[in-house]
Amino acid sequence: MKSSETNPFRSLPSVNDVLGATACRAALALHGHDLIAEAIRVELIQLRAQLARGDVLNGQGDADSVALRVEQRLNLEMRPRLRSVINATGIVLHTNLGRAPIAEEAAKAAYDAARGYLNLELDLDSGKRSSRQTPIREWITRLTGAESATVVNNNAAATVIALRALAQGREVIVSRGQLIEIGGSFRIPDIMGVSGATLREVGTTNITRLRDYERAITPQTAALLQIHTSNYRVTGFTESVTTAELATLGKSHNLPVIDDIGSGAMLDFNRFGFDGEPIARASITSGADLVLFSGDKLLGGPQAGILAGKKAFIERIEKDPLMRAFRCDKMTLAALEATLRIYLNEDRALREIPVLHLLSLPIEELRRRAEALAHGLRTIETLAPVEILEDVAFVGGGSLPDQKMKTWVVEIKSDELGDDAFAQALRLGNPAVMVRVRDGKLVLDVRTIFPEQIDALIAAVRTASRRTQTR
Ligand SMILES: *Cc1c(COP(=O)(O)O)cnc(C)c1O
Repeated sequence: MKSSETNPFRSLPSVNDVLGATACRAALALHGHDLIAEAIRVELIQLRAQLARGDVLNGQGDADSVALRVEQRLNLEMRPRLRSVINATGIVLHTNLGRAPIAEEAAKAAYDAARGYLNLELDLDSGKRSSRQTPIREWITRLTGAESATVVNNNAAATVIALRALAQGREVIVSRGQLIEIGGSFRIPDIMGVSGATLREVGTTNITRLRDYERAITPQTAALLQIHTSNYRVTGFTESVTTAELATLGKSHNLPVIDDIGSGAMLDFNRFGFDGEPIARASITSGADLVLFSGDKLLGGPQAGILAGKKAFIERIEKDPLMRAFRCDKMTLAALEATLRIYLNEDRALREIPVLHLLSLPIEELRRRAEALAHGLRTIETLAPVEILEDVAFVGGGSLPDQKMKTWVVEIKSDELGDDAFAQALRLGNPAVMVRVRDGKLVLDVRTIFPEQIDALIAAVRTASRRTQTR
C-alpha cells in the first residue's frame, strides 16, 4: 500500500500544486499571487477538517478541483460592493439607489473627463489659469436668468456656504413652517449652526405672514431665507408669503433673500401632472437674490448643489475658505455641464434627461411594458401566477411628496421562498434587483425598469426564485 492510501492527509495537494493548476494560473492576472495563496490555504484547511471528520473527498481534494473552488471563492469575494441595480421600485429619485440616472451624454462627458485631461481650470483662449466654475456659470445664468452662479457638492453644502458667506455671526429669518429635515440629518436648524448664522424663527407651523418677517428684522439681521418644504406639505388652514413679497421686503431693508427651492426643476412640472414645484428661473424673476437647488433631484443631473443669483453674493461665496472643501470634481462638472446644455433645448431635455423621460412615460406605455414583463416572467416555473395591475407610486428623493403617479406593476410570488427571502435573493443576484414588497408579494414597477434590462431582470428572477441559487 502507498502511504497516501493509508494517510489521506498526504494525498492533499500543496499550496504550490494548486497555484500551478489551470484555474489558478488563469486567475493570477486578476487576483494576484497573495490573494490566491491565501484562498488556497483556506480551502486546504477546510479539506483537512473534512478528512479529520472521516469524510471521503471524492475527487474534491485534487489540485484542479481545489483551484476551481479557489477561483469561484475569489470571484465572489472580490465582487465590487457598489453594483448596478435594476430599480423595480418605480421610485424615480430613489436616494438609496443614487437618485437621478443621468443622460447618456452627461455620463459620457464624465467618463471622458475621468479617463483623460481636460481644461478644468484653464482658459483655452488665453492659455491662462481660469476658474472651474466658469463653464457651469455660463449655462446656469442662461437657463435661470441669474447674474451669476456657482456649484458645490450638494445642496446641503450650498446652504451652508451661502449662510456662512452672507450671514455668519448674524441672524437669518425663517418661517417656522419651513424648518425642514431632509433625511440623513439635514436639518435646517443644524445647518444654521454649522454655518455660524443664528436662526430667527417667525410665524407658526401653518401660518407665516409678511409682517412676521418684518417685525423680526433688526440691525442683527443678515438675510431672509425661504425653504421649499420638499418632502412634506402644510395643507388646510395655511398662509405663507410668496417669493415676490419676501423679495420686496428684503429690498426695502437692503437684505438678501435666499430661496432654497430644493429639487432644481428647470421646467414646469405641471406638464407631468405635478403642481407646486418651484422653478429656478421663476424664483430669480420674483426677485430672489440667491436660489439654491440640487443637481440630482428633478434636474436629473449628477449630485451637486447649485447657487444662482446676484454677482456680488456669488463672489463672496466663492471667496469663502469652505469653497475649496465643497468644490466639485472634474467628473461631476463635466456631467453637470452636459446636463445643463441639454436643457437649452427643452424638447431634447424631455427626451434625453432620464428623470424627465421616466416621469412622462404615458400610462398606456407602462401597461404595455408590464404586459411584456409579465409574459416573460410566466415562463418561470417556480413562480405562482404572475399578475399585472394598475398602481400608484411617488417620485421620491424628497420631491413632490403628496403627488401620486399612476403606474403599472407586475406582482410575483415564489413557490419556494417567502417574500423577504425572495427579495433578498434578488438584491444579491447578478444583476442586483430592488423591488417593493407588499402583502407577501413582490411588486415590480415597470416605470424605472429600462427596456434593455428586461431580459436580465427575467433571468435574475428565474435564478432568485429557486431555493438554492447559483450566484
Ligand atoms: C434635498 C434638499 C436639500 C438637500 O439637498 P442635497 O443635494 O441632498 O444635499 C436641501 N434643501 C431642500 C429644500 C431640499 O429639498
